[in-house]
Amino acid sequence: MPPAPEFPPIDFPTLGFLVIDWIEAHCVIPDGFTKGEPFILSGWQAWNILNHYRVRPGAVGIRNNELASAFFYRRSQTVRPQKTGKGPFTSAVTCAEAVGPVLLDGWAEEGDYYACRDNGCPCGFVYFYEPGEPVGTPWPTPLIQITATSEEQTANVYAALKPMIDNGPLSEIIPKTGEEFIRLPNDGRIDTVTSNARSRLGARVTFVPQDETGLWTPSSGMVKVAETQRRGLAGMGGRAWETTNAWDPSEASVAQRTYEGGMEDIFIDFPQAPVGLSFRNKAERRRILRAVYSGSPWVNLDDIEGEAAELLKVDPQQAERFFGNRLVYAQGTWLPEGRWEETKDADRVVRDGEFICLGFDGSENNDWSAIRAETADGHVFTPTYAGGRPAIWDPRLHPGGHIDRGEVAAAVDEIFSRYNVGRFYCDPQDWRSEIGEWALKYGDKVVLEWPTNQISRMFAALSRFEVDLASGRVTHDDDKTAEIHVANARKKAQTAQRYTLIKPADHQKIDVAMSSVLAHEATQDALATGWGKAKSRRVLVLS
Ligand SMILES: [Zn+2]
Repeated sequence: MPPAPEFPPIDFPTLGFLVIDWIEAHCVIPDGFTKGEPFILSGWQAWNILNHYRVRPGAVGIRNNELASAFFYRRSQTVRPQKTGKGPFTSAVTCAEAVGPVLLDGWAEEGDYYACRDNGCPCGFVYFYEPGEPVGTPWPTPLIQITATSEEQTANVYAALKPMIDNGPLSEIIPKTGEEFIRLPNDGRIDTVTSNARSRLGARVTFVPQDETGLWTPSSGMVKVAETQRRGLAGMGGRAWETTNAWDPSEASVAQRTYEGGMEDIFIDFPQAPVGLSFRNKAERRRILRAVYSGSPWVNLDDIEGEAAELLKVDPQQAERFFGNRLVYAQGTWLPEGRWEETKDADRVVRDGEFICLGFDGSENNDWSAIRAETADGHVFTPTYAGGRPAIWDPRLHPGGHIDRGEVAAAVDEIFSRYNVGRFYCDPQDWRSEIGEWALKYGDKVVLEWPTNQISRMFAALSRFEVDLASGRVTHDDDKTAEIHVANARKKAQTAQRYTLIKPADHQKIDVAMSSVLAHEATQDALATGWGKAKSRRVLVLS
């Protein structure tokens, strides 16, 4: 029996059918007009459970000490839009993991059944297995940590969980649902934790619902939390389940890491509409919503449309993530989506001796330092030195976390000797004395300080770079660091009309983007003085 027509048929062994029936017999709707009625799983919810509890063929289960390893997937990730019922779903799975049959205990023979009365529950529930179906059994001592970025968020999940237990048959076996935690039979418990609960995070957990992992960023401390919990789970044979909205791809969240990791033993449920559909276009938006809200029959698409249209006005990127279930960079992203990719020219080879201009954004010990170059015909690239090393320096890779200034100076010297450098713009922050030396060596009309913290000047340079990218007058190489730094860069309004670039978080660097803009500015200014044209031709003849 497939969960709904839009989902593929189930052609693998799974404990999911038992778990679904168990949930529907034990969990009740936590709120709303139908509060207290049986919680019936929708299409996507059933589909997720059938996959999470998919059993590995040949697994034996608890009698062979196979807990997590009895299952096909080590953990699951569910990425669904707002209002698809992720919260109540997580609560229902938590109930099953607390006192329901979620571990494998062999395979059924003719006439085998699961009966609540054999497991301390007086509700009368009986499930008759098909011969050859996996057999389920509860955890002896379940320890569950509902985990989120904030106490407010864990309280949200907990608020759905408590009435789901208190107002239905589960109240017979779980009589104590406290305000802080839930005590389970057999010394088990359900806790809620955030990154503040350091001492408890490494606990011997058997199930961890990880809520909104799209917000679990390195700076929030939640990447460490996820890693600690995974170690705890691995020790116990437990499993985790991430649920989240689509995330902002510049944030390196836990959700993003899971998704991009490409592990085949993680179940990922992330329905997406065809990429060609525009979320800004009302008719196409409707098609996107129809696609990503499939399997959630209670959702009224007119209501969703109303909320999406409202949010679109203030934060279009968030609207597209929350309701369109798409990975979209946050508001204020520097370049329009796809622009950097469109303007890439990976085949362009820059030969020694070509006419180039340079831009340098340096730092001492926190941000990166980078030299970018641009040819007279508008190709931005990372010059190399010392036999092919890119002129980009990450201070974390240097002893003591400090940039090796000698290395930067050596790179500058090599680049000047290999190319015909017309102009070199340098942000003076932390590097004023070196810039002075370069000006003495290569000419003070060539090497110039260019302070990136001067707002009107910086804004003009950014605008010029953006316009020239959009018109195709500038292309660039395939430098991955440049790509990341460009994606990280955010606009920050400085006045009503002017903005500069900032990093969204301290670990998200933008220095290679800044040095690219400086290289372009140097090139444009040099070209305006007549540099490059005649001389370029001569070089072409010579080569
Ligand atoms: Zn029961």
